Amino acid sequence: MKIEGPWDTEQYSALARELLDLRMLWLPENSRSVPPPKAIWFRHDVEVSCLAAMEMADLEHALGIRASYFFCVESPFLKGQPEALDRAINHIAAMGHGCHPHPILERGEEIAMAQTKARDSADRFGLDDRIMTLHAPNHSDVAPLAQLDRCEIVYRMVIEESFAYHSDSMHRFRWGWPDAIDPRPMQLLTHPIWWSDGRKLGQCVEEAAGRGVSYGTLQQFLPKLLVS
Ligand SMILES: [Zn+2]
Repeated sequence: MKIEGPWDTEQYSALARELLDLRMLWLPENSRSVPPPKAIWFRHDVEVSCLAAMEMADLEHALGIRASYFFCVESPFLKGQPEALDRAINHIAAMGHGCHPHPILERGEEIAMAQTKARDSADRFGLDDRIMTLHAPNHSDVAPLAQLDRCEIVYRMVIEESFAYHSDSMHRFRWGWPDAIDPRPMQLLTHPIWWSDGRKLGQCVEEAAGRGVSYGTLQQFLPKLLVS
């Protein structure tokens, strides 16, 4: 199945159901967990919209999916809104999804710094930091990221290609459509914002502007996503 036309929650349901027909739902317990061959790990990075994340979590719950949500609490879209983050994290965790940190790693910053930031966001928002992923928009090389043991499940297996890894961006999958019959376990990274109401991204940009966050700042944070 390939998606034609605009992406939305219905299309996401169809894709998830297709994958679940052929694969076993899997959620890592910690960063060293080893997935069985026919596993499917649904994973999301939440950087733009708490609302889109909650909608995705509700949808997955209805489909019987437990997924991992990685929250970038320092994102310029989400920063300074602890109530909205708290509400989203509590709502999503209550359905049995994992809620983990997705700290920002700036250019030139020591990789170990990410662990400190993850700890900090875990303390503030009750996130489970046994597993984390990094938001590193300027890092072209993921090899150093895999050295952090809390990131191992994500990056080491991607580098070794022991996972079939698929990630979406701007309404497409960057390295091809998820292939249900690939014999390897699959890590499916999707960003809830791309599957939600198409107007939501524009609204989030506007709301950020209302809080004094410039478009340039947002662009720097998501360089592949927001073009001038
Ligand atoms: Zn990210």
